[in-house]
Amino acid sequence: MEIGFIGLGAMGGPMAANLAAGQLTKVWNRTADVAVSHQQEHGTLAVTDLQDLGDVEVVCSCLPTDVEVAAIADVLGPMLAPGTVWIDHTSGDPRGARDVAAALDANGVRYLDAPVSGGTDGAVAGTLTTMIGGEEAVLEQVRPVLERMATSIVHVGPVGAGMAVKAVNNALLATSLWAAAEGLAALTKAGVPASTALEVINAATGRSFATEVLLPEHALTREFPVTFALSLLAKDVGLAQAVLEDAQVDGQVLRLVDQLTRSASEELGPDAGHVELVRIIEQAAGVELR
Ligand code: NDP
Repeated sequence: MEIGFIGLGAMGGPMAANLAAGQLTKVWNRTADVAVSHQQEHGTLAVTDLQDLGDVEVVCSCLPTDVEVAAIADVLGPMLAPGTVWIDHTSGDPRGARDVAAALDANGVRYLDAPVSGGTDGAVAGTLTTMIGGEEAVLEQVRPVLERMATSIVHVGPVGAGMAVKAVNNALLATSLWAAAEGLAALTKAGVPASTALEVINAATGRSFATEVLLPEHALTREFPVTFALSLLAKDVGLAQAVLEDAQVDGQVLRLVDQLTRSASEELGPDAGHVELVRIIEQAAGVELR
């Protein structure tokens, strides 16, 4: 099965590398040099023209939002053979996913939204979780492709449902990060080092991915590696707002988290990683988490 992969960023790069270990994988990236380096490092086949992906049986995309996916699908969709499956790993707007699916369907191309969770470590290890929106029969057709990148593959509903679950998941990630940083700042000021508090919390009921991994490994080490842009997290929390609004659920907590995350992203700028929102709590409290 020949595969085309579009978008070799922090997530797409390692995901495409895992695909290439099993089958011919053509890679396209907006900045072409990235695709050339990917070919040299991982044995993929770099293409510079989207037209060169016209003969693949499966297209995977991993781009910032559904807007970039729609723009590329407009160009590439009509070049693909009917029956081609497009797996979109982008964390996008469910409404955008439905629009892309409808546009591709006009050319007989089947679409699944398949956003991923598990971070760059999970992408490298091929242990991502993916939540699939679309027809189950199409999912079964491409399951072997997904299994090269993900160990947990869950069908969650029709097209757009995967994006909706992903948005809510990341809104929960942001919520736990903000809340844990606030609590740890207070405990630090009260004389309990953050590392000691986390030792307890991570053996108790307040634990989360933020307390178990992000805070100890990214913040307390003071390394703050940029594995996921804060701007992308802010985008996801905003998408969760739209999911709640569409469902007419009044989400007071997530509305506040949306405002906080958006304003943190504006304050810290486009190069900030998501865990750096902790710095805002630290500055306001006058402490450093250690
Ligand atoms: P990156 O910023 O690392 O990569 C973005 C990719 O999209 C790059 O290949 C970039 O190309 C390409 N791109 C950006 N704008 C355009 C455009 N206008 N046209 C074509 N290509 C474009 O993002 P990530 O890999 O971190 O994230 C990708 C998706 O995965 C996002 O939706 C994100 O929310 C989600 N995600 C990210 C996780 C993470 O931990 N990083 C975890 C789970 C999901 P170029 O090289 O030219 O800039």
